[in-house]
Amino acid sequence: MLSYQHAYHAGNFADVHKHLTLYAVIHHLLRKKSAITYVDTHAGRGLYPLSATETQRLQEYREGIWPLWQARSTLSDPLLNAWKEELTSAQPIPETLTHYPGSPWWLSHSLREQDHLRLFELHPGEHEQLNAQGLSPHAQRVFGDGLAGLTAMLPVITPRLCVLIDPSYERKAEYQEVAETVVFTLEKARHGVVLVWYPLLPAGHHHTLLSSLKESGVRKIWRSELLLREPGEQAHGMFGSGMLVINPPWGLDQRLAAAMAEITPLLGAESRYQADWWVEE
Ligand code: SAM
Repeated sequence: MLSYQHAYHAGNFADVHKHLTLYAVIHHLLRKKSAITYVDTHAGRGLYPLSATETQRLQEYREGIWPLWQARSTLSDPLLNAWKEELTSAQPIPETLTHYPGSPWWLSHSLREQDHLRLFELHPGEHEQLNAQGLSPHAQRVFGDGLAGLTAMLPVITPRLCVLIDPSYERKAEYQEVAETVVFTLEKARHGVVLVWYPLLPAGHHHTLLSSLKESGVRKIWRSELLLREPGEQAHGMFGSGMLVINPPWGLDQRLAAAMAEITPLLGAESRYQADWWVEE
């Protein structure tokens, strides 16, 4: 039984971290003409009106996209500015932030004639809402399990593969399942670019994912984390957002470091960004 709905969290600091990283990866991949298959294993609804009852309940976007949007005319980093232009194009009323785009939107908007996109979603209501979005005709929406779906479609027919794995981690076992799926994916597509999002929670469940990958023999795992606050003893709830990028495009670390240096202070006095190679070449 799935209870997580991303609309409660749309546009929060973790979305900003995740989608900026995804955008930077896509932006780099588009420099070459050869076709790309994108897979989004946990798609969600695709586009989130900030006025929705669910989103208004927690208003997490106020510690995420909102302060960035307020500062948009002062941003100087080229990656941030390109990302901001895309974000602006998602708004029905120009210059008014009313919608936050989810990963299917970011992926669909980058699709070229030669590329493919498959979006998996297992929640019937979320899948229905995803179906209602006006995405590219090259975006295929599948009602089903994303990790099993990804595994079943490998190897892909295009020369390049880019996967986003962004589960809700409602079950602890998902951390291990994600690690196993990443290993399988790279066995079938050695040069595939795989992005994995994980929450930083006081219980530290993400260490299962990180240590499984380290022990698996997978190389070139870059880790990037955005902490909204320090994990103090009294901490509860998600205090940070983590991303692994396996086979990251050259220079991604520097481009993101520059962009994050500009936006991290806007997210709060305690916020902090850190990145390193979890597993090197
Ligand atoms: N990737 C989305 C984005 O960035 O906009 C957010 C995804 S949200 C964190 C996780 C989504 O995965 C939820 O919509 C949930 O219903 C869906 N989900 C949960 N288990 C799934 C599974 N086994 N396969 C596919 N989707 C699943």
